[in-house]
Amino acid sequence: MITRTNPNCQTESIIAMENSDWRKILSASTLSLKDLLGKLEIPIELANAYNPDSFGLEQSSFPIRVPEPFITRMRKGDINDPLLLQVLPLAKELEYTPGYTKDPLQEAQFNSAPGLIHKYHGRALLIITKACAIHCRYCFRRHFPYQDNQPNREEWNQALSYLRQNPLINEVIYSGGDPLAANDKHLSWLTDQIAEIPHIHRLRIHTRLPVVLPQRVDENLLRWLANWQGQKVMVIHCNHPNELDERVKKAINELKNIGVTLLNQTVLLKGINDDASILVDLSEKLFNFGVLPYYLHVMDTVESAAHFSIPDSKAQRLIGKVSAHLPGYLVPKLVREKANEKSKTLLSPIL
Ligand code: SF4
Repeated sequence: MITRTNPNCQTESIIAMENSDWRKILSASTLSLKDLLGKLEIPIELANAYNPDSFGLEQSSFPIRVPEPFITRMRKGDINDPLLLQVLPLAKELEYTPGYTKDPLQEAQFNSAPGLIHKYHGRALLIITKACAIHCRYCFRRHFPYQDNQPNREEWNQALSYLRQNPLINEVIYSGGDPLAANDKHLSWLTDQIAEIPHIHRLRIHTRLPVVLPQRVDENLLRWLANWQGQKVMVIHCNHPNELDERVKKAINELKNIGVTLLNQTVLLKGINDDASILVDLSEKLFNFGVLPYYLHVMDTVESAAHFSIPDSKAQRLIGKVSAHLPGYLVPKLVREKANEKSKTLLSPIL
């Protein structure tokens, strides 16, 4: 039997998704490898040959999760698609690699109050939620003890007191999980509380949601964020130019319209973006969308993700090639984060 897809129906369903409530799209995320491969028309036998045992990883503490708008940007039939590879559980995750640990940045020691990490001078990071819209297999917080960092209102008040009592903190960073996976009521309340602390001038939000589920940038979000009278910075997280489509551009434009400065950070991932031409395209496309490339992170030494790593010397040669192709403002800083350092460590380009 030959089945045909009606292109009009497909277009209608994409338009419907584009305008849907982000929570509905989020709750309809793909949570099984079989469903994901089915949507991408990749035969299960091919996936098994490529990656034996990956189905066994679905029940791990870090299960598969991918929202539909991200899946629509993956190439059908391609097991090597660079977006698919970021979310595809691999049996390699179970291999032991010396030097790779559950908490490579030793963040636990900077957990000054529930939900608060104070590590760098002048800024404090709030773990707003453990939830993410997508589970990136390389995530450095995939083993983070979120169960100890899910503050209730009273504990949030402790974190707010800590901020009030530390006048040297002038910037608050919303992190997670993905902070924008939290509901707007909570974000609005917390932001209003912080706005009343006179020494906090800047709000920075680190989020992958405007890329993987751009419908998140809706009226409610724009309303509470626009109310923040200080400087507003959003660091989005995009690893490959194929992640950027027109719907993402719309979300970015809406953020820019309320005065948000937009930066991007990328993680350098073996087999996904460890190629100078891909990194050049990414920088160009980001800037066309109004986002400045900010950081290119070499992988943190997190357990279960060693297979994404490349040697620092290769990363330095790559950024050297990127520097030779682009003006300086489009070249992200290549950095490694080290436990107990006062700032990220810059890795110089090798030209
Ligand atoms: S969105 Fe960010 S925090 Fe969440 S899994 Fe991906 S990298 Fe980790």
